[in-house]
Amino acid sequence: MMSRMIKRIVAGACLLFVLVTGLYAGGRKESMPEIGVAAYKFDDTFITGVRAAITTASQGKAMVDIVDSQNLQVNQNGKVDQFIAKGIKAMAVNPVDRTAAGVIIEKAKKAGIPVVFFNREPLAEDMAKWDKVYYVGAKAEQSGIMSAQIIADYWKTHPEADKNGDGILQYVMLRGEPGHQDTDLRVEYTMKCLADNNIRIEKLAEDTALWDRVRGQEKMIGFIAAHGDAIEAVFANNDDMALGAIEALKSAGYFRGDRYMPVVGVDATAPALQALEEGTLLGTVLNDAVNQGTAVFNIAYELSQGRIPTEESIGYPLTDGQYVWIPYQLITRETYRQFK
Ligand code: BGC
Ligand code: CA
Repeated sequence: MMSRMIKRIVAGACLLFVLVTGLYAGGRKESMPEIGVAAYKFDDTFITGVRAAITTASQGKAMVDIVDSQNLQVNQNGKVDQFIAKGIKAMAVNPVDRTAAGVIIEKAKKAGIPVVFFNREPLAEDMAKWDKVYYVGAKAEQSGIMSAQIIADYWKTHPEADKNGDGILQYVMLRGEPGHQDTDLRVEYTMKCLADNNIRIEKLAEDTALWDRVRGQEKMIGFIAAHGDAIEAVFANNDDMALGAIEALKSAGYFRGDRYMPVVGVDATAPALQALEEGTLLGTVLNDAVNQGTAVFNIAYELSQGRIPTEESIGYPLTDGQYVWIPYQLITRETYRQFK
């Protein structure tokens, strides 16, 4: 039996331990810089991946407040005002409308709070307004070329892909949001790359499905109703729309027996890799959310410490002192396993 004295000492020591560790944790929290992050909307598969990467990278280093702009620029401007009023040390912004970045930069500059933009590239003239402005993204041209390469390889190795045997690839295109650099550049460079591969093409239909899976399905239902088996390939500016198209194709009897349709997307989200495994999605392009999110955090963190980010401190190459470009990677059925 422990004497009362020993019990008291043990209890006292425990209390001291709790107090000290509590103080330590509290002190540490207070000394961590606060960084504000405004996403264009939370309900976006790719952006959800970037958010997760930012949170992971921030562990133990900074307090990150990530807010949802709900796809409204006015909301986002309000969130930015709140960040500034709170006195955060740096912010990261995924603009709703990339042409609105100029206004955000002016506000940030006035308050002396550096900004890292991501995923939606501000205009060059806006980026030039202040040296404490950065952008993290990926070269959309590259993803357009890779999407085309996936279809070109398939076309060249599968003579049956030319269903009507006219030597021309009849395709449909699901575009991302209008005004987004990834939409225009992916479409443009896909077409250029097909031409470089000497593939003659004919567009049967093209429409925006706003990056959205359900809209992608609806548009594809319409394309099938209008063109049916005349369609020989489906290009989608992202995986969510590609997966929506696959749903529509499944309902129309594709992916059963010898009824196949080559469908290509961009992002390499988890459900897209699953579709590659099932053999519905032909290929995709890795839009590297993990490295984009990590780079965003690393730059914002350096800035929050009052330092100028360098390649060494952020761990990524810097272009023109303001840009980090994360490379895309082509993914097919042969290679998808290494990305899962
Ligand atoms: C991604 C899309 C995403 C969009 C959001 C693009 O880079 O490929 O999946 O919806 O960014 O801005
Ligand atoms: Ca044809």
